[in-house]
Amino acid sequence: MLKRLSADQYADGILAGNRVVLSQTITLAESTLASDQALTQQVLDRVLPHAGQSVRVGITGVPGVGKSTFIEALGLFLVNEQHKRLAVLAVDPTSQRSGGSILGDKTRMTQLAAHPQAYIRPSPAGRSLGGVTRSTREALLLCEAAGYDVIFVETVGVGQSETAVHGMVDFFLLLMLAGAGDELQGIKKGIMEMADAISITKADGGNELAARRARREYQNALHLFPATDSGWQPVVTTSSAVSGAGVPQVWEVIQNYTQQTQASGYFQRRRQQQNLHWLHEAIRHGLEERFYARPEVQVQLASLRQQVISGQKSAFGAAGELLGL
Ligand code: GDP
Repeated sequence: MLKRLSADQYADGILAGNRVVLSQTITLAESTLASDQALTQQVLDRVLPHAGQSVRVGITGVPGVGKSTFIEALGLFLVNEQHKRLAVLAVDPTSQRSGGSILGDKTRMTQLAAHPQAYIRPSPAGRSLGGVTRSTREALLLCEAAGYDVIFVETVGVGQSETAVHGMVDFFLLLMLAGAGDELQGIKKGIMEMADAISITKADGGNELAARRARREYQNALHLFPATDSGWQPVVTTSSAVSGAGVPQVWEVIQNYTQQTQASGYFQRRRQQQNLHWLHEAIRHGLEERFYARPEVQVQLASLRQQVISGQKSAFGAAGELLGL
């Protein structure tokens, strides 16, 4: 790995908007070495007062729904027409890709990736969901400190990563295809309930009518869900990343949401709750790591596992013994 800089050097580089230093710091946050994690925390402490100013948007949908194409279209609209600085992060715990230098990712969002106001970072590879989620949340804060005012967090739409991403964003956008049943799209009801907006993708050519019909159906379905604490009524739109139709409207919806929830105080409250959630997650994670790292726990655990398997000891009794060490 790269030579380490000092915490101040990382922090100064980030605050100056230096993308190379930003990337190096995210790599540091993705490292599992204890010394790298400690250094990451020092950098975060220094830059944290400059974070928090962006709009954080989670984007999900099954593979093939058109996420990359949509993110590129909306992203180009934001950087070119709204003069925003956009960072795109990804959470994909199944990813076997090696961090950063992936062919697959190089070919995605090529125009956006080449734009000086956009920064695209693929999912860290080879980590557990918890690890990926944590380093993505840290990357998000680092990008904010580097001056990105819109952050997209993309997730693959096949499992638990949606819940994790929902816990780190202000607004959650679900992309859906027209004409495919919910089952077929692998979208669980719980994910639809998390959505602040749904956009039916590929609403172009012969697909336009079906997209409009799907829009009405989903809008009706969403009305049946219980009201959310935000007071926001989820919106369903249609969009085509190819023709560009409906893409700026998604941004309008996001802006309406932020205005409404900032005025009501929900926006800030939710971020506070998310911070508290992360605090407890970090404590839980730290306790677990320290516990399993203890040599006496490792020795005892090996023999207790055998006793639990053979039925000599109950799982709870064995856990109690270990926790009492
Ligand atoms: P992802 O797997 O969700 O990231 O989906 P992609 O962005 O890779 O898109 C999957 C396929 O759908 C590709 O072949 C795209 O060219 C196609 N696609 C994406 N957006 C649109 C759209 O707005 N209209 C049409 N007709 N095709 C699209």
